Amino acid sequence: RIKTVKDLAGVGQAVLSKLTEAGYSSLEAIAVASPQDLSTAAGIPLTTAQRIIKEARDALDIRFKTALEIEQERASVKKITTSSQALDGLLGGGIETRTMTELFGEFGSGKTQICHQISVNVQLPPEKGGLAGKALYIDTEGTFRTERIRAMASALGLDPKEALSNIMSIRAINTDHQIAIVEELQDLIAKDDRIKLVVVDSVTSHFRAEYSGRENLAARQQKLNRHLHQLVRLAEIYDLAVVVTNQVMARPDMFYGDPTVAVGGHTLYHVPGIRVQIKKSRGNRRIARMVDAPHLPEGEVVFSITNVGIRD
Ligand code: ADP
Ligand code: MG
Repeated sequence: RIKTVKDLAGVGQAVLSKLTEAGYSSLEAIAVASPQDLSTAAGIPLTTAQRIIKEARDALDIRFKTALEIEQERASVKKITTSSQALDGLLGGGIETRTMTELFGEFGSGKTQICHQISVNVQLPPEKGGLAGKALYIDTEGTFRTERIRAMASALGLDPKEALSNIMSIRAINTDHQIAIVEELQDLIAKDDRIKLVVVDSVTSHFRAEYSGRENLAARQQKLNRHLHQLVRLAEIYDLAVVVTNQVMARPDMFYGDPTVAVGGHTLYHVPGIRVQIKKSRGNRRIARMVDAPHLPEGEVVFSITNVGIRD
C-alpha cells in the first residue's frame, strides 16, 4: 500500500530528494500538482509525472464517490469511550477514529486527565467502549503520570501493569523534536496495528514558547498547520484516533492586542476535525462544549474529574 511519496512507483532516492526540495514532500502535494511543474521540478519525463500524480490520487482515494460509498466509509469509524456518558454523548458516542479531536481549555480544565483516561479506555474490549488497542502518548509538558494510569485502569478492572505496558510515552523537547516524532510515528504504527490512539499533550505549547511575539506568528502557524495536517493524515490512513490538547486563556479579552494569545476555539481552525472546549465549573465538575464538528450539534455537557478518572 502506498503511504508516502517514496512508495510511488518510479520514485527512487534521487527523484525523491528533488521532489522534496521542490516542496512536493507529501502525497497531497503531488496529487494536486500539475504534471508540467512536477516534471520540471523532479527532472522526470512528463509521462512519468502524470503517472506519479495519478498514483498519488489513487493512494489518497481522491475521486468522486457516491454518497452511499461515503456513508459506508463513515460507518466503519470506531469510537473510544471517555468513561462519561455525557461526554460520550456530546462526542456522538466517544472519541472517533480517523479524526483529530482537539481538546482546548485553560490550565487545570482537565485536558490531560481526559488524555490519560482514553489511553486506558482504548485498551478496553469493544463491548466496553474500547478498541482492544494501544496508545502512543506524546508528552510535551511533562505531565504524563503513571499513577493516574494505574488508578484509572484498576477502576475499570484492567490489570494496571498491563495497562501501563500498552501505553508508550515520549517526552518531546521542542517543536523540531515533536515534529520529528510524528514523522517517525508512521513506521511505529505500521509495525503494530494495535496502536489505535495517538495523543499529543499539548500540541501547541512548544510552538507558543518558541515562536512568541507577533513577528513570528505567521511562521508558527505555518509550521503548526503542517504538523497538524500530518496528524490528521495518520488518523485517516491508519484508522486511529488522534487527540491533541491546546491550552488557551480563560479570558482572551484580557489579553487584547496580543495576537499570539490563543482565543478560545480559533487557534487550530484551519485543520479538519472535532473541537471540544473544556471549562472549569464548581469543584471537580467540568463543562465540555462541542465547538466545531462537521456532523454533531453544538452543545454543552457536564462531567467530573475523580480520583479514578473521568466520570459523569
Ligand atoms: P489541564 O491538562 O487541562 O491543564 P489536567 O488534566 O491536568 O488539566 O487537570 C487537572 C485537574 O485534575 C486538577 O484540577 C485536579 O483537581 C484534577 N486531578 C488530578 N489528579 C486527580 C486525582 N488523583 N483525583 C482527582 N482529581 C484529580
Ligand atoms: Mg495538561
